[in-house]
Amino acid sequence: MKRVIFCFTIFFNLTTMAQEKELTREERHVIIDKGTEKPFTGKYYNFYEEGTYVCKQCGASLYRSSDKFDAGCGRPSFDDEIKGAVKRVPDADGRRTEIRCANCGAHLGHVFLNEGHTPKQTRHCVNSISMNFVPAGERKTETAIFAGGCFWGVEYYMQQIPGVLTVESGYIGGTVNDPTYEEVRKKGTGHAEAVRILFDPAKTDYETLAKTFFEIHDPTQEDGQGPDLGPQYRSEVFYATSQQKEIAEKLIRRLQAKGYAVVTAVAPSTKFWVAEDYHQNYYTRKGTLPYCHGYTKRFD
Ligand SMILES: [Zn+2]
Repeated sequence: MKRVIFCFTIFFNLTTMAQEKELTREERHVIIDKGTEKPFTGKYYNFYEEGTYVCKQCGASLYRSSDKFDAGCGRPSFDDEIKGAVKRVPDADGRRTEIRCANCGAHLGHVFLNEGHTPKQTRHCVNSISMNFVPAGERKTETAIFAGGCFWGVEYYMQQIPGVLTVESGYIGGTVNDPTYEEVRKKGTGHAEAVRILFDPAKTDYETLAKTFFEIHDPTQEDGQGPDLGPQYRSEVFYATSQQKEIAEKLIRRLQAKGYAVVTAVAPSTKFWVAEDYHQNYYTRKGTLPYCHGYTKRFD
């Protein structure tokens, strides 16, 4: 995949990060200006309730309480992040590795390796002020899974939608457990490259996501997307509920009525296998735009 430069160069017109909230002066100091809060002063350094830590600025889920530990440093420490939620960049000091919210770029803190705290040998040292805590059971989220060609591009565009909390790239629809990219590439697994989207139904809805899906890939191309050919690049909606199924089918009928020969399959969700780390947040990490996907308005 990803060899030929092929882009429908129509700009994707969603208001990126429209859900960002107004920050206080103290929050700006850390989140935007990359300041550091004093140790032993933050809200969460000595706090161990069960739940999820989300980005103060955009609401994306970042860390789970099950990965939190006391490193004795006076700041919340985690030995793992929610997959794809945190990006690592070399710090301006030339020494450390900064961590940012992968969705909105908010400064979180720094990550340190091989200090011996936990078997994962990783310590995300996070400023409390960069996060909010959502107790277990309080946050209502929904998921949506779409396959529309190379997952890098679909992931990139889905991440731009306000209300989308996380997007993971992975594999679904085949018969092989825990497939690798290489196995899927060789076409024997039955899996499609797909994305699993976690979204906040208070801020967006399945129909918005599904419409976007049909507008950022070509639903009339069979077994491929642009230059990426093969069944792993097929167009398919994997629904989680009968309501999602109805919405997907309704949108397909609308496209058909407009003359599109839609080939998108609609199937119940099966197990979604998260892809290798190097496939997550590919374009955000690279800082480039997808070659394989672009936005084309297809709904009125
Ligand atoms: Zn964020």
